[in-house]
Amino acid sequence: MMNQLNTLPRRRYTAGPTPLHPLDRLSDTLGGPRIFMKRDDALGLTGGGNKTRKLEFLVADALEAGADTLITTGAIQSNHCRLTLAAAVQEGLQCRLVLQERVPGSYDPSASGNNLLYHLLGAEEIQVVDQIDKAPEAMEAMARALEAQGRKGYVIPTGGSNPLGTMGYVLCAEEVASQALDQGLRIDHLVCASGSGGTHAGLLAGFHATRRSIPVTGISVSRLRDEQEPLVRDLTLESLGRLGVKEPLPGMAVRVRDDFLGAGYSLPTPEMVEAVKLLARKEGILLDPVYTGKAMSGLIGMIREGRFQEEENVVFLHTGGGPALFADPDLLLS
Ligand SMILES: *Cc1c(COP(=O)(O)O)cnc(C)c1O
Repeated sequence: MMNQLNTLPRRRYTAGPTPLHPLDRLSDTLGGPRIFMKRDDALGLTGGGNKTRKLEFLVADALEAGADTLITTGAIQSNHCRLTLAAAVQEGLQCRLVLQERVPGSYDPSASGNNLLYHLLGAEEIQVVDQIDKAPEAMEAMARALEAQGRKGYVIPTGGSNPLGTMGYVLCAEEVASQALDQGLRIDHLVCASGSGGTHAGLLAGFHATRRSIPVTGISVSRLRDEQEPLVRDLTLESLGRLGVKEPLPGMAVRVRDDFLGAGYSLPTPEMVEAVKLLARKEGILLDPVYTGKAMSGLIGMIREGRFQEEENVVFLHTGGGPALFADPDLLLS
């Protein structure tokens, strides 16, 4: 499998592996299994987070294609847009963004958080659309406008979650498994946020390709289980296809919980607020309200349901998102 991956062009945005360490104060507080955290919030590029791993492959492909501008899309407070822009800055490329105003009236051009960083890092153009469905067409129009000027755009889909971007998390599966081996740690379960699906699918593909049967639970942050599971499954299968893995993926492998989503994407839940505060106060670690706060509320919920034995080791993947915490301080100021 690694042979297939080693031949793919890749840029490097992080110096070495991200830390994998225990959260003993949190484990004691919850009285459950031993909780470890994989710190992908510490990945490279401005502010870190999971999109950095996907961008190592996507931006390398853009450079191979001779692009001078990255074009991508995300919600109005998108970590993916911030990191794509950061990668463009590091590579000396331009970057244009299509922001999706998923909640009517929610776009505020002077908002803090990731929005502030779009401006600070110097996005060349920001366009706002009022429906997610309009984003692909808006990005194609941007690419055509560049072409008319003799330039070349490279379009990256939402969350960087195509089979190429997903390879970043195939490598992460390998990284976390070899760190666990070094630390003499048996991983019994891994929990992560599941959004556009590339992170979840890449981990599944990576573990499956290397015959590690580590169960992964994705906490859905935008879709119900009936939609999220097929999305993750398809992306996992496409990734395994690219890796040349023939062994069929067991039906049980794709596990999604949608009962920590609340009313929908980016809409707060009391459990998310509890999780963000708990991690801050017990571990001094910042989660975000949209992804990692809800994912951690899922892990806490699973522990309270008695899903894990006390001697089990559960890894929580911290996918980043810190800057989004500063978009809406009122959420946590109570
Ligand atoms: C994008 C994102 C996720 C979700 O990852 P996907 O690969 O889109 O499923 C999780 N956490 C943070 C902080 C993100 O920005």
